[in-house]
Amino acid sequence: MKLHELKNITDDYTKTDALPVMFVGHGNPMNAIEDNTFSRTWKTIGKQLPVPSAILSISAHWLTQGTRVTAMEKPKTIHDFGGFPESLYKQIYPAPGAPQLAEQTQLMLPHHHVMLDYDWGFDHGTWSVLIQMFPEANIPVYQLSIDYSKPMEYHYQLAQELQALRRRGVLIIGSGNIVHNLQSIRFGSHTPYDWAVDFDEKIAGWIRERDHYSIVGFQNLGSLAALAHPTTDHFLPLMYVLGLQGKNDNPEFFNTEFDMSSVSMRSVIFRNT
Ligand code: ZN
Repeated sequence: MKLHELKNITDDYTKTDALPVMFVGHGNPMNAIEDNTFSRTWKTIGKQLPVPSAILSISAHWLTQGTRVTAMEKPKTIHDFGGFPESLYKQIYPAPGAPQLAEQTQLMLPHHHVMLDYDWGFDHGTWSVLIQMFPEANIPVYQLSIDYSKPMEYHYQLAQELQALRRRGVLIIGSGNIVHNLQSIRFGSHTPYDWAVDFDEKIAGWIRERDHYSIVGFQNLGSLAALAHPTTDHFLPLMYVLGLQGKNDNPEFFNTEFDMSSVSMRSVIFRNT
């Protein structure tokens, strides 16, 4: 699939009873246990959303060769980070898995050779957000991995085949960051670099204009794109969320601030309004 062939196939997708789809900037794993502006917003959103039948998370922290979907009954909480306080490693997110939905999701993607996975669990891209958003952990959660060998447009196209999940009450969350440069972070600073603001605002503008073509082709921004994403892992979950945007879904931004100067926490929820 070439970039110029990109097409959002959701034009007849006008159902009003579909669940929203959202991209969450997860940032620092400490957001899982800190009471801060980001985590407070996650809490508020969790209370405002319709209660989903299940949650499908596409996290920047599960990169694979081929696409996988977690299918275990009881996913483990993965502490996939280093150098944080002991209290963070003690956190468990005990939500059940969604084995049947995992199998259905696999069947919805017949051309992608999706593998059922019994080894992963919840990485911190998933649980650090959900522990604040849905603290009761009583909604089944499963994850879809990101095939890191594939180009940007592959992920955008794959996501479009998952549209029906939204109408089945599944809340789909992409978890990454719209700007994510760990080499440039300044601890304790919320003041972003100029290039970080530039990139963040470009992407936000394209989201408002529904210009998916430019976002999927963000690497055309050259050195600016390379500064915002020295690696593409944290940007990729946004491709899934955009692929799932329906014709009548409008974006609402939240947590639009920066953390540590080079991590944009900008998040966006698409809902039928
Ligand atoms: Zn991350």
